[in-house]
Amino acid sequence: MATLFGKIVRREIPADIVYEDDQVLAFRDINPQAPQHILIIPKREDIPTLDDAKDSDGPLLGHRLLTAQKLARELGIAESGYRLIMNCREEGGQTVYHLHLHLLGGRQMLGF
Ligand code: 5GP
Repeated sequence: MATLFGKIVRREIPADIVYEDDQVLAFRDINPQAPQHILIIPKREDIPTLDDAKDSDGPLLGHRLLTAQKLARELGIAESGYRLIMNCREEGGQTVYHLHLHLLGGRQMLGF
């Protein structure tokens, strides 16, 4: 089902896009929880949650992680450190049902 992230992929709603390739899109979170707060999503719209990912999606999921690594370096937070978060469904705190990885950095992360 199309979500607002799908609309961002299709440029139907605006976003502060920081990276794009054939597989993934990365843009700034509208409600940042850290000085750097980027969402990295697959362009495909058929993976609502991590629980919906298949073994065959492994390369895409790996590519998303390595995209986070590269963005962290570009944003200057690789050496100081950063946090990656993926919320899954209701009790995981997921609000947008289009798979996404949060990249957070630029401040000290505390607890969980
Ligand atoms: P979740 O809670 O599902 O893991 O994360 C969803 C994230 O999407 C939240 O951090 C929220 O601030 C962000 N978000 C919601 N709507 C928009 C939007 O229209 N644009 C952008 N850039 N981020 C959004």
